Amino acid sequence: RFITLEGGEGAGKSTVIAALRDALETAGEDVVCTREPGGTPLAEEIRGLLLDPQHEAAAPEAELLLMFAARAQHVRRTILPALQRGAWVICDRFTDSSYAYQGGGRGLDAAFIAELERRVVGIVPVLTLLLDIDVREGRVRTNTRDLWPDRIEREQEDFFARARGVFLMRAQAEPDRFRVIDASRPREQVAADAVAHLLALRES
Ligand code: C5P
Repeated sequence: RFITLEGGEGAGKSTVIAALRDALETAGEDVVCTREPGGTPLAEEIRGLLLDPQHEAAAPEAELLLMFAARAQHVRRTILPALQRGAWVICDRFTDSSYAYQGGGRGLDAAFIAELERRVVGIVPVLTLLLDIDVREGRVRTNTRDLWPDRIEREQEDFFARARGVFLMRAQAEPDRFRVIDASRPREQVAADAVAHLLALRES
């Protein structure tokens, strides 16, 4: 089954993914953990183009299409084959991030993103864990991490605040798919909540 993680900077997605993998492997499941943008050699190269500060910054429309080019490849080469053999797929970010960052953050039209999602992606996760954290609080937590460094400098706080708003709106609109987790709490608690949601799904 296809599970995604979403959230802002410093929400602790990596810790949660490790905990989810652990829980599923302990239960004897086949698990594939992957990430966006990336998850195949070509898509990882696209990621490199987008985050390397040596490259010119992508225009919003170029960024959107590169994200979807990477995602198209990722879905066909990594995600669908894994799902077809019966594995669980846990993906660090997916299409919801495009609505949040390229849509909310960069101001691109959500209807256009929805059209790309329909034509290019065609799959929706069964469960999306949204690790929600205040933008400033999250930023403080990432200080020690070398994460998209020029990106962080270039973007204003309100860019991330708009992205957070879109994530929360989408969670409200699709309560069956989303679980919102308060990521301002200690990591172990955040991870424990995430694992509980996953195991509830497994039993359902
Ligand atoms: O997953 P991670 O927290 O490392 O992502 C870092 C940043 O990548 C995000 O905060 C955002 O600036 C950028 N990103 C984006 N559009 C996506 C996925 C990620 O702008 N679709």
